[in-house]
Amino acid sequence: MPEFQCTRCGKCCMHFGRYVTIERSLGPGDFFCRFQITGELFRAHLEPALRALFQEKGDATAHPEWCVFLRKDTGGNGFVCTIHHTRPPYCRGFRCYSLKIFSPDSTEIGKVGGNRALLSGDVDLVRCWQEKVASFAERDEARWRERVRDTLAKEGYRVEIYT
Ligand code: SF4
Ligand code: SF4
Repeated sequence: MPEFQCTRCGKCCMHFGRYVTIERSLGPGDFFCRFQITGELFRAHLEPALRALFQEKGDATAHPEWCVFLRKDTGGNGFVCTIHHTRPPYCRGFRCYSLKIFSPDSTEIGKVGGNRALLSGDVDLVRCWQEKVASFAERDEARWRERVRDTLAKEGYRVEIYT
């Protein structure tokens, strides 16, 4: 099973300004924070190599909807979480897709997000999904993914499941 690879596009963190909040500073580079979706508190520690980048408030000021810890990588390599090793559990487990779907000629034509929603511009796949897959109600995520893979395989598609 292939491993999910984050491309550091930053999109998932660009709507988290409301959800990751700093409760108080605990000293240089340390914060007591709250993850608002679950209400959990966590202690965040700035990555030493990213401390100066965090302190440049340009991104945070220009984009209040971004997570307070998100910054654009100055090396041009996408975006960085400045508390990467102490980010909250939700962020650690987040995958923006769990399945990739390929046409018979091996072209990637769709992805499935963690919310089981199909992201695809392929009308045939969208129709097939609505007819054959959308009603699946398995609670167990692994079993749901396997059922999707096996069902779409019968329709000629190849599905990769990501861990
Ligand atoms: S998890 Fe997905 S959306 Fe978030 S930064 Fe990585 S590739 Fe982008
Ligand atoms: S804590 Fe890090 S991974 Fe989580 S939303 Fe903020 S920038 Fe993204």
